[in-house]
Amino acid sequence: MPAVLDATKRSDSLRKLAAGPLDVLVIGGGVTGAGAALDAASRGLRVGLVEARDLASGTSSRSSKLVHGGLRYLEQRDFKLVKEALRERDLLVSKLAPHLVRPVPFLYPIYKKVVERPYVGAGLVIYDAMEGTKRPVPYHRHLTTRGALRRAPALRPDRLAGAMVYYDAQVDDARHTLTVARTAAAHDAIVVTRASAVGLLRGVEDTAGDDPRGARVTGARVRDEETGREFDVHATRVVVCAGVWSDLVHAASGVKAGYHVRMSKGVHIVTPRSAIDADTGMIVRTGKSVLFFIPWGERWIVGTTDTDFSGDRTEPVATAEDVDYILANANRVLAKPLTRSDVLAVYAGLRPLVAEPESAGDSDETGKPTTKLSREHVVVTPLPGLVSVAGGKLTTYRLMARDVIDAAVADFPRAVPPSVTDQLPLLGADGLPAVRAAAGRLAADFGVSAETAEHLISRYGALAGEVLELVRADKSLGRPLAEGHPYLRAEVAYAVTHEGALHVEDVLGRRVRLLIESPDAGASAAGEVAAIMGKLLGWSRRKRAEQTRHYQEFAATTSQALLPGPASQPAAPPAKPEPPAQPRSWLRSRVHGQPQDQAPDQEPTTPVPVPA
Ligand SMILES: Cc1cc2nc3c(=O)[nH]c(=O)nc-3n(C[C@H](O)[C@H](O)[C@H](O)COP(=O)(O)OP(=O)(O)OC[C@H]3O[C@@H](n4cnc5c(N)ncnc54)[C@H](O)[C@@H]3O)c2cc1C
Repeated sequence: MPAVLDATKRSDSLRKLAAGPLDVLVIGGGVTGAGAALDAASRGLRVGLVEARDLASGTSSRSSKLVHGGLRYLEQRDFKLVKEALRERDLLVSKLAPHLVRPVPFLYPIYKKVVERPYVGAGLVIYDAMEGTKRPVPYHRHLTTRGALRRAPALRPDRLAGAMVYYDAQVDDARHTLTVARTAAAHDAIVVTRASAVGLLRGVEDTAGDDPRGARVTGARVRDEETGREFDVHATRVVVCAGVWSDLVHAASGVKAGYHVRMSKGVHIVTPRSAIDADTGMIVRTGKSVLFFIPWGERWIVGTTDTDFSGDRTEPVATAEDVDYILANANRVLAKPLTRSDVLAVYAGLRPLVAEPESAGDSDETGKPTTKLSREHVVVTPLPGLVSVAGGKLTTYRLMARDVIDAAVADFPRAVPPSVTDQLPLLGADGLPAVRAAAGRLAADFGVSAETAEHLISRYGALAGEVLELVRADKSLGRPLAEGHPYLRAEVAYAVTHEGALHVEDVLGRRVRLLIESPDAGASAAGEVAAIMGKLLGWSRRKRAEQTRHYQEFAATTSQALLPGPASQPAAPPAKPEPPAQPRSWLRSRVHGQPQDQAPDQEPTTPVPVPA
C-alpha cells in the first residue's frame, strides 16, 4: 500500500485517474475532501481526489487550529453540534491523531463575579457533562483572582474577579489535513493536487429514465493545472467538498444544489510568546463573539474576526482594520497592551457557512450576521451520481466525510460497508507511545538532539524516523531550514517525497509553517527550499528561480494589514523593504492594499475599558 504522496510520481497518479473508472471522485482537498477520500477508500471503494491547488490551501490551513466543542455554540443552544464536536475532539486526542491533536487549557477571565461566575460555571459544567466521564482532558476548574494572575500575569488586574480554566484541543490544521489525505492514499486513494474539476460529465443513458432531475453525473472533466492538459475522470459517484468554492463548482455545470455558501472572513494575528505572559490559552468575550489567545509553540495566535466577505476567495487578505480590531479587543484585558510592532504575521481564512435553505436563492441576502449562521453541515444529492457537502468545522470533518459518503453510496450498485474511520488511526498515530518513550534512542541513533527528535515526533508521530532516514542518507538535510525555527531541511525533502508538495508555497505555507510563523513569512528560506525541491523534482535553474521569486512575491502580498498608523487611514502606498537585518519591520513595510470589507463588528478600534 502506498503510504506516501510522492510528488515525483504525480504523472503516474494522473494516468491512474484518467484510466478510471473510479467508484468515487472527490472534488476538493481540504479537510472535508481528504476526510471523504479516507472514508470511502477505507470502505473498500476505488477513490480519486482532485485538488485545484494544494491540500489544505483553502480554509483548512487558515483556521484557529482548535479542535473543540465550541463553548460559544453552547450559548447559542446548539447542543447537538457541541456534543458531536466534543466526541470528535476526544476521539482525535485519544485514538485517531494523538500525535497531532493535543489538549490545551483555556483561561476564561471573569469580571462580574456575581453574574458571570455562575453563568460561565454552569456552561462549563454542561460542557464537561456532555463529554462524559471517559475523557482524555481534565475537568474545568475555578480560579481566584490571585490564581488567575498566577497562570496569566499578562491580564489587567483591575476589575479581574477570578477565572475559570477549561480544556479543549489544538492541531496544526494543514498538517492534519495532509495526514488525512496521506492516510487515504495508504488505503489506495489516488490523490492529485494542482488538478481542478472544470465540469461534470453527464451520462445520456438515464435522461429518459427514472430520475426527473436529469442525466446522471458520471465523472468530471479535470484540468492539470501544471500543464493545462484536460482529461475525463469517470466515476460512479462524484462528491463535491469544495468549501467556499462549492457554489462555483455547482454553477460551472448548471447544478442547482439546494444550498448556498456564505463566506465569513476570519483573521488571526501571530505574536511572539514573550509578548503575552501566560502559561495557558485564554478566551475573552468581544462585542458579538469571542477572542482566543492560543499558544502556538514559541508564539501566540490571537483571533478571530467574523465578517461577511465577497472578495477574491483564493487569497483572502487581512486589512489594517482587522488587525486593529484584534489588538483593541486583546488590549481590553492585557496589562501591557499589544502593539503592531508585536505582530509577527497575520492570516485570513473564509468560513464556508451554509446559508439557510429559504435563502438559497441568494445567500448574501439572509441579513443574518455570519456569527449567527450554523456551523453544522449539509449534505445534498442534487443529481443522480452527485453528492455535495459544505459547512461544518474542522473538528467535525470525520462526521461530514462519513455523512457525504453514506449519501453517495446510498443507492450504490453493490453493497458498501459502513464507515470505519472512528476506528482508524491516522498515519503516525500507531505505536506513538513507544516512539515517544524511545525519543532519546531515536535521537542517539540518528545523531540529532533530543529537541529535534521531539520536534519531529510532534509533527510526524511514529513516522518521525522516516524523516531522519533522509538525514542519514544526506547529512546536509540535518541542518535547520531557517534561523530560530526548529524545521530541518529534511522536512522539505520529505514534503516532496511523502507529502505531495509541488511548489515552494506548498512547503513554506503548509508543510512547515514559516508563512505564518516567521516575520518575513519564510521569504528568505524560499531559495533553499527551491533548491531542495528542485533536486527531487528535476527543476531547471530557471524554474528554481521562478519558484523562489513567485513565493517571495506571494509572501509580500499575503499581509496587507500591518500598517503603521490608525486603522481609519487608507492603506499606505507600497514601501521600500528595509534591510533583512530588521525582519519585523520588513514585514510591516510589505505592500498593502485597500480593505476589502467592512471593519469587523464595526466595533471601536481603539483600546476600550475592560468589559464591565
Ligand atoms: C478564521 C477561521 C477559523 C476557524 N477555526 C476553526 C477552529 O478552530 N476549529 C474548527 O473546528 N473549525 C474552524 N474553522 C472552520 C474550518 O476551518 C473549516 O470548516 C474547514 O477547514 C473547511 O474545510 P473544507 O475542506 O470544507 O474547505 P477548504 O479547506 O476550503 O477546502 C476546499 C478545497 O476545494 C478546492 N477546490 C475548490 N474548487 C475546486 C475544483 N473545481 N476542483 C478541485 N478542487 C477544488 C479548494 O482549492 C480547497 O482546497 C475556522 C474557519 C475559519 C475561516
